Amino acid sequence: MAYKAVVDPERCAICHCQNCQVNSGTAFGWVVHIRDGQFELTRGSLKIFEAIAESGRRRCLSFCGNCGTRIYAQTPEQPDAFFGLRVGTVRQRQLLAPRQQVWCRSAQDWAFDLLAIPRKEHQDG
Ligand SMILES: [Zn+2]
Repeated sequence: MAYKAVVDPERCAICHCQNCQVNSGTAFGWVVHIRDGQFELTRGSLKIFEAIAESGRRRCLSFCGNCGTRIYAQTPEQPDAFFGLRVGTVRQRQLLAPRQQVWCRSAQDWAFDLLAIPRKEHQDG
């Protein structure tokens, strides 16, 4: 699976909503807004899973049908709504630092203090 997209680096966020936690299997989502729907799948195919977000909006979550990687989330009937590309899938992700954190009310408490957790360069054993 491969894609091309045009994103807005100013609209790059960490999302602590419960959907991002459950659907990613981790603590939060790292997303960037796709500009004017400029997303083009260049190889492979995507599957769509429909969910209701904490905002109450219908969200279509797309993922690679082959490996299960989440690619984007959008609200098709609201083109102006956040069209969130999962930044972990972007080759240039080093350039996309989050500018804000949203849905902090459902965040894991420790997520705000990662520096307090001991760090290693690699995982032991
Ligand atoms: Zn979220």
